[in-house]
Amino acid sequence: MPGHLSGKVAIVTGSSSGIGQSIATRLAADGATVVIDYRNHPEGAEETKKQIEAAGGKGITLQADVSSLVDVQRLVDEAWQQLGSCDILVNNAGIEKSADFWDVTEQDYDAVLDVNLKGVFFLTQAFVRHLREAKRPGRIINISSVHEDMAFPHFSTYCASKGGLRMLARTLAVELGPLGITINNIAPGAIMTPINKKLLDDKPKLNALLKNIPLGRMGMPEDVAAIAAFLASDDAAYITGSTYVIDGGLTVNYHEQ
Ligand code: NAP
Repeated sequence: MPGHLSGKVAIVTGSSSGIGQSIATRLAADGATVVIDYRNHPEGAEETKKQIEAAGGKGITLQADVSSLVDVQRLVDEAWQQLGSCDILVNNAGIEKSADFWDVTEQDYDAVLDVNLKGVFFLTQAFVRHLREAKRPGRIINISSVHEDMAFPHFSTYCASKGGLRMLARTLAVELGPLGITINNIAPGAIMTPINKKLLDDKPKLNALLKNIPLGRMGMPEDVAAIAAFLASDDAAYITGSTYVIDGGLTVNYHEQ
C-alpha cells in the first residue's frame, strides 16, 4: 500500500541485514522515513539506505548498540531531533548462540539477553517516554520468534529472551493502551537470512527442517516485512498484545510417527 505511512517516522533496529533490512525498505516504500539502526556493519546500513533511496524513499543511518542504555536513549533522541517525531518502533535486532544448557556461559547468556530482551525493554521505554511527553500515539512491533512459545533445545538463552518478549508485549499492551500506543510481536519461523548461515550450509539438517514446514520452503525477509507493514498501518489500529506467527505452518505441524 504505497504512501499509507507518509509523514510517519519509523526506527528499525538491526536494519543493516536480513529481516530488519527488509522491514526498513518496506516501511520506506510505504512512505515512512526510516531510521536505519546498525551495530557493527555500517556498510549493511548504507546498503539499506541505498535500496530505500533507489525506490524513492527516505532513510537515515544511526549506529546504536541496543544493549547499551546510553545508545538506545541517543537513538531515540537523535531520531526525534533529526526527523521531528517518531511514530513506529520496530525492535528487530537480535542474536542467537547455540550451546547445551549445561555449557552456557554467563558471557553468552548476557550477550543474548542484553540484545534480545534488555535492548527491547529500554529502547521501548525511551520511545514511550518521548511519545508520552508529546502526547502522541505510536506503534511498537517486536520481532520475536516462534521460539517465544516453541521449544528450541540448545538455544535456551534465545528461548528465554524471546519468551520474555511474549510477556513484555502482553503486559505493555495493557499499560500503554490508554496512551494510544499499540505493541505486537511477529514470530517468524525459519527465514532466509545470515543468522541461519550454519543451517543453510548443512544440507541434511536443512532438508529435515524443510520436511517439517507444510509450505515446503523457508520464509523470505519480505514475508515478515509484509506483516510489519500491516501492523504499522491504520488497518491494524485496533490490534495490540498479539503475536503474529509467520512460519509456513511449522508450529502446527505435529504428526504421529
Ligand atoms: P541477521 O541477518 O543476523 O541480522 C541481525 C541484525 O541485528 C543485524 O542488522 C545486526 O546489526 C543487528 N544487531 C545485532 N546485535 C545488535 C545490537 N546489539 N544493536 C543493534 N543491532 C544489532 O538476523 P535476522 O535473521 O535478520 O534476525 C532479525 C531478528 O529476527 C532477530 O531478532 C531474530 O531473532 C529474529 N528471527 C529471525 C529468524 C530467522 O529465521 N532468520 C526467525 C525468527 C526470529 P550489525 O550487523 O550492524 O551488527
